[in-house]
Amino acid sequence: MFEAKEIRLEMDDVVIEWSDGHMSRYPFRELRIDCACAACIEEMTGRQLLDVLSVPGDIFAVDFLPVGRYAVQFAWSDGHSTGIYPFTMLRQICRCGDDHSDEDPAPEQSPRRAGR
Ligand SMILES: [Zn+2]
Ligand SMILES: [Zn+2]
Repeated sequence: MFEAKEIRLEMDDVVIEWSDGHMSRYPFRELRIDCACAACIEEMTGRQLLDVLSVPGDIFAVDFLPVGRYAVQFAWSDGHSTGIYPFTMLRQICRCGDDHSDEDPAPEQSPRRAGR
């Protein structure tokens, strides 16, 4: 279970420092588009209802609100603020380029040499 130690709003991105020391950076617009709330994603089908082209290029996060210990909610400059971003989802969409494979327990590649 991932926890955010610190969440910062910078010029162009949201920066999250994780409890394990990992740093993630999410450009505002990409994070806005990744919103998975009921207004942006159709619950039954997973279809994206959000018109991506309607998201301004200069959108930014106005504010954020921690949701318990598992998620964060952003208020965007386009007035949208219903999206809750679970930390596990944010870790999955981290684009830092690091290998995150050890974080995602894929059953088919369980290493046999687990001991030291
Ligand atoms: Zn949304
Ligand atoms: Zn990363």
